[in-house]
Amino acid sequence: MDNLINTSTLTDAERAKLESILNKIFENCTGAALLNALHSNNLKFDFKTNPNLNGLGSYSPIEKSITFKGVNSMNFGTLQEELFHAYQDKYHQVGTAQYLGKPGSANIEFEAKLFSMINELYQSGMLA
Ligand SMILES: [Zn+2]
Repeated sequence: MDNLINTSTLTDAERAKLESILNKIFENCTGAALLNALHSNNLKFDFKTNPNLNGLGSYSPIEKSITFKGVNSMNFGTLQEELFHAYQDKYHQVGTAQYLGKPGSANIEFEAKLFSMINELYQSGMLA
């Protein structure tokens, strides 16, 4: 699943953590569907960290990048959320940059949270 990585300024340890979380996301059917949708559209992202980031992670529809606050914010929930934002950027007409700082951004967050809840149900075995 490292084929989703375009460039990376992550340290070796951060990159190893990123790849292990990608593999975990791929193990679950909704996560695999998300990764396959990104991969089949040849989408690749720039991965980096920024200690000054507001929040644990961020997807930029302008840079097509995924930023983590640091190695401790690299986790299943954060990565899945940012990858889902990348999916939304691909599938919303003309992308999601149009919603930056606008009321529509609340819908973008709502969709990502709903996807995450559905994925957690699969992950926990409550849905089969
Ligand atoms: Zn979000």
